[in-house]
Amino acid sequence: MRRQRTGAACTHAPDRIAAPRAQACEECGSTFNLRMCTECGHVGCCESQLAHNTAHARQRGHPVIKSMPVDQRSFTWCYACGTYI
Ligand SMILES: [Zn+2]
Ligand SMILES: [Zn+2]
Ligand SMILES: [Zn+2]
Repeated sequence: MRRQRTGAACTHAPDRIAAPRAQACEECGSTFNLRMCTECGHVGCCESQLAHNTAHARQRGHPVIKSMPVDQRSFTWCYACGTYI
């Protein structure tokens, strides 16, 4: 994962953050440490599990995710930039 750019330089986040379209990983059904695609609302598990969220980001070209549940405390991460934004 590259860490060259700062979060302020990230241009990958969509103007409108999608709503999560599931409450569990859409591929494996995990309900633990979920990540949501900000582009389309896809829900997937994190890297410490089967990394279905990472696979989605790579396959669909949707690099920006939020941690679930999505609230003020959730973080936003850009896979393309390799940084929190
Ligand atoms: Zn970015
Ligand atoms: Zn999964
Ligand atoms: Zn997506």
